[in-house]
Amino acid sequence: MDYQYDIAVIGAGPGGYETAIKAAQMGKKTCIIESTYLGGTCLNVGCIPTKTLIKTANVLDTVKHAADFAVEGVDLSALKVDMAKLQKRRQKVVSTLVGGVRGLLRGNKVDILEGTASFADTHTLTVGDKQVSAEYIIVATGSSVFMPPFIALEGENHLLTSTEALDLDQVPASVTVIGGGVIGVEFAYLLNRLGSKVTVLELMDHILPMVDIEVSRLAEKRMTKNGILFRLGAKVSRVKDDTVYYEFGGQNCQVKSDMVLMAVGRVPNTQGLNAEGIGIEFDRKAIRTDAHMRTNIPHIYAIGDVNGKVMLAHTASHEGMVAVADICGQGEEMRYDRIPSCVYLEPEIACIGLTEAQAREKYGDGLKIGRFNMAAN
Ligand code: NAD
Repeated sequence: MDYQYDIAVIGAGPGGYETAIKAAQMGKKTCIIESTYLGGTCLNVGCIPTKTLIKTANVLDTVKHAADFAVEGVDLSALKVDMAKLQKRRQKVVSTLVGGVRGLLRGNKVDILEGTASFADTHTLTVGDKQVSAEYIIVATGSSVFMPPFIALEGENHLLTSTEALDLDQVPASVTVIGGGVIGVEFAYLLNRLGSKVTVLELMDHILPMVDIEVSRLAEKRMTKNGILFRLGAKVSRVKDDTVYYEFGGQNCQVKSDMVLMAVGRVPNTQGLNAEGIGIEFDRKAIRTDAHMRTNIPHIYAIGDVNGKVMLAHTASHEGMVAVADICGQGEEMRYDRIPSCVYLEPEIACIGLTEAQAREKYGDGLKIGRFNMAAN
């Protein structure tokens, strides 16, 4: 069979664009199809813009404490963040990086097709009024904010997701964050530093579910000291107007705020892809893949958030490298037990490998645990 491309990649986030570049560098005729924005969630409405805002929050904090570092002359009463300027800076950082991605794709001779891809058959994609055929197809469509059906939304509320929260043109006086995962906690940290009164409602008995519990408790303690109110074991059931209703310690409670941020996870993007239609198998809402990132259809791969394994940008990129290596006959496998991650607080939290709880479950009680106090480092 003659195909237009050796490899077609669907989605140009950090999973898709790095994969397409690698495929082209391996001598494969490659195209990438993107519906919304080059750079995907990470560059446009995820990692990069959040860290740009956090940078400003950290600069503000450093300037506030300038005297501790022997810097005199700062008029603390005049300190403020110009949100309009901050938003301009965020847009500039994002557009510079998105421009870089476009340049890299072009420089490596990857064809960029704009539009939404849908499977016509296992080797053909429909993109607008065009059909694109490829020997191999790599799905890298990412994820979207999960809007939980178990939390009722009523009345006129100022409910935001992490996407809209990036656009804030003023710092809200008070914020309620639903979900104490990475997104919820990084936003809570940011808004607290910018001056909001922040309440975090988390279902579990600790924040940051992926982090070692001892470290998660330290982070919680530090942020509590800085004024964030954590309600752990709080089950949110309803948001009505500006009030969030939740169950806490057997009691029905409520909190009123200027803004509510929903951060209870993300779901794989497969809408409109017609993946089920051509027989691709799923694990709940995610596309099922093996260690080579192959789906049940051997020439179709799925990398990044869409396979629901580990929703981190650098994991997506590496899964893409594994997929391309597999296509090129180099038989690499993905190792999920050695993925580094970071939570952008002050101090930052870095992780790799198992948490203590996971290590105990895997190896029993014969663990040797080393601790070193950061302040002494
Ligand atoms: P998450 O799954 O990490 O956390 C969601 C939290 O919401 C959980 O702790 C859960 O217990 C809680 N929750 C669920 N239902 C609730 C309810 N009714 N009431 C109160 N709490 C409830 O999801 P996230 O924080 O939205 O992040 C999504 C993905 O993005 C994750 O995979 C994350 O790793 C990734 N991410 C990573 C980074 C980073 O590495 N720095 C930054 C942002 C996002």
